[in-house]
Amino acid sequence: MTRADSSDEEPARPPAGMAAALLAWYDRHHRDLPWRTPPAALARGARPDPYHVWLSEIMLQQTTVEAVRRYYAAFVARWPDVEALAAADTQAVMKAWAGLGYYSRARNLKACAELVAAEHGGRFPDTEAGLRALPGIGAYTAAAIAAIAFDRPAAVVDGNVERVAARLMALRTPLPAAKPAIRRFVERATPQARPGDFAQATMDLGATICTPRRPACVLCPLRGDCRGLATGDPEPLPLKAPKPDRPLRRGAAFVARRADGAILLRRRPERGLLGGMSEVPSSAWTARQDGATGAEAAPFAADWRPAGTIGHVFTHFALELAVYHAEVAASAAPAGCWWSAPDELPGEALPTVMKKAIEQAVPGATLRQQPDTARSA
Ligand code: SF4
Repeated sequence: MTRADSSDEEPARPPAGMAAALLAWYDRHHRDLPWRTPPAALARGARPDPYHVWLSEIMLQQTTVEAVRRYYAAFVARWPDVEALAAADTQAVMKAWAGLGYYSRARNLKACAELVAAEHGGRFPDTEAGLRALPGIGAYTAAAIAAIAFDRPAAVVDGNVERVAARLMALRTPLPAAKPAIRRFVERATPQARPGDFAQATMDLGATICTPRRPACVLCPLRGDCRGLATGDPEPLPLKAPKPDRPLRRGAAFVARRADGAILLRRRPERGLLGGMSEVPSSAWTARQDGATGAEAAPFAADWRPAGTIGHVFTHFALELAVYHAEVAASAAPAGCWWSAPDELPGEALPTVMKKAIEQAVPGATLRQQPDTARSA
């Protein structure tokens, strides 16, 4: 291994003046995001609301800013502070989260709100260590909240920051081995003054200028000190180690519809993937490749008809679900299940994969009807 390939190498030092240049750029070009306290307001003495910072950071994990905007607005309108969220019905929170994905975040969100309300008097801890002790808050989120909400000089390293740092350093070590060197670089670059704005400035630079494809280096406030740009081709950075192929799992999903249009649902176990979310009765998802479809897992005898196959990609595996559909006369729901009426179904805590399965069998069933449509139906 050459010195240049080692993640233990002494990383390049951040350029002198990096923080000042980034903060000046941020003052003029920061993104307006609903959970943010803009720099001008901070300068006037406004303080970020830790509840808003925490909520947005949890929602933004693995999720785009655009997807989060609507959910964030709905959550804050319905549960304006941590005590309100702590007192909320868990299923109401899961339903409000439906569609945002990575549902363990919603369970941890509720658990965290309850803990902050019950044991911290409704106030979030103001240190990284204190924040990390809360459910659902890992190293990145603790650093982000500590920096943004409490002005702690924490090194905040998300995907955008990784890209900016790796390019500034012209780091040839691929991710994930490059992470320690990137972290040391960001720790050194983070200023004592305005660390929260510095973190958000670096994120904004990565999101708007130092983008994965075709970075707009000509507009970058750091272009004079960027080693990646000096190589002539910063775009491939950071390099990434090849990912192993996702294994394929298969299963079957059973969409039973009653004469009044209600769809049969049940709740997934609290623990595990999509825990506590709603689903149509389904088989286990297995890696078996013997052609078995899981049709034997039907919740009850009915005229089950194949309705096609849907695919969904999770972080660690790809799923192929054979969808079966039956029109049934039964009115009583089997044990552990319930009938969800057409006007209730769009509000159920259905993960995207289950919406796909239902839509495959009953197109439009999971969409909320417009009032005009509903009147004319
Ligand atoms: S000069 Fe280009 S590659 Fe370097 S940090 Fe700025 S946008 Fe990224």
